[in-house]
Amino acid sequence: MTHRVAIVGAGPSGFYAADGLLRGQPDLRIDLIDRLPTPFGLVRSGVAPDHQGTKAVVRQFERLLAQPDVRFAGNVDIGRDLSWDELRAGYDAVIVATGMVIDRKLGVPGEELPHVWGSWKFVAWLNGHPDFRQGPDLSAVRRVAVIGNGNVALDVARLLAKGPEEMARTDIVPEAAAAIAAAPLADIHVIGRRGPQHASFTNNELAEMGRLGRAVALADAAALAVEVPASDPTPERLRKTKNLEILRGFAANVPGGKPLSVHFRFNSAPLAIRPGEIELSSGTLPADLVITCIGYRGEDFPMGEGVFAVGWARRGPTGTIPANRADSHAVAREVLAWLRERDPKSGPDPMPASIDVAGWHRIDKAEIATGGPLGRPRIKLIDWKSLLDIAQGD
Ligand SMILES: Cc1cc2nc3c(=O)[nH]c(=O)nc-3n(C[C@H](O)[C@H](O)[C@H](O)COP(=O)(O)OP(=O)(O)OC[C@H]3O[C@@H](n4cnc5c(N)ncnc54)[C@H](O)[C@@H]3O)c2cc1C
Repeated sequence: MTHRVAIVGAGPSGFYAADGLLRGQPDLRIDLIDRLPTPFGLVRSGVAPDHQGTKAVVRQFERLLAQPDVRFAGNVDIGRDLSWDELRAGYDAVIVATGMVIDRKLGVPGEELPHVWGSWKFVAWLNGHPDFRQGPDLSAVRRVAVIGNGNVALDVARLLAKGPEEMARTDIVPEAAAAIAAAPLADIHVIGRRGPQHASFTNNELAEMGRLGRAVALADAAALAVEVPASDPTPERLRKTKNLEILRGFAANVPGGKPLSVHFRFNSAPLAIRPGEIELSSGTLPADLVITCIGYRGEDFPMGEGVFAVGWARRGPTGTIPANRADSHAVAREVLAWLRERDPKSGPDPMPASIDVAGWHRIDKAEIATGGPLGRPRIKLIDWKSLLDIAQGD
């Protein structure tokens, strides 16, 4: 008898946990369970479609799916199709890798207006998550306020600012690409409540904003006359110093040279949102669409004996894909220590009917086949019926 481990969530942290487990004990049976018929979590539905290099990490994850004792069980929502108690009863250990993607609220009046979108809803739409098929109405959107000073805010601003030719070789959902291309966009404001020395942008992603085909990046030089906090650790100081240098370059750009402008505005806390405008601590801005990129929270899950959390579900919604690796490996070692103290459970396979790895590969193949002739990595299947029909071989 071998131990059976359930990993709930087939995103990066779930895969890294499987990897850590197999490195320590190769004869385990691992079920990687996801509510979607497709694996890879936010690599598929969060990471920006024009950053295909980042998505290449899935090749490592595919190698794990090819292991004989690793089973992908897609289209199984724990809590709906199988309870957490049933899961705990059926497996020797459960690893929770469910991530965190509920948009956090700003907590200002007007936040519930229909032109206010959370970044997750927005990126899930343009990345083809089947539960988020309704995008914002962009047909009359000229001015956008993107709230937040992290890389997700840059993703959102960049995806709106890029022209159709810059998105031509991506896997953005075609309907979303068409809506963005047809929108009368003119000004995108990236708004931070604090100064530029506190922004959490990474250098490469910020610098990319200065190389957009149809948009010029702008910043107010006065806001950039600041110092990076001397108390910061060296890597942070270097990152922030470089960011300030990049932003000073934006401040030297000439407005109006391109059809779109991306304005970086700092020290501007949102106070209220009204139709057509947003009130900031630094003044009022016209805004036909507001997208909040201020972080996420997660769904509750029950902890208890034999249940271990990893990734964003454990640490909160910060950190890049590779940052999950060490954490998942450490938790995998704890799980292995726990298993060593216990005999494997016997009993029937608790897994309900699910989409297996062959089903996912049918989806993958169909998507690549439609994207290839158009020069795109894939055209995603985005509705539940097509995903399930293709996965089941219909
Ligand atoms: C918009 C956005 C852009 C990002 N861009 C980058 C980037 O460019 N580069 C980078 O390095 N990092 C990026 N990140 C961060 C990166 O995506 C995360 O570090 C990583 O995905 C976290 O992995 P995870 O496995 O913990 O969670 P997730 O990737 O969210 O995976 C969780 C999985 O659990 C499944 N699940 C949830 N609940 C259940 C349930 N009850 N039953 C079954 N399955 C369930 C979900 O369907 C999902 O597949 C980005 C994040 C966001 C939000």
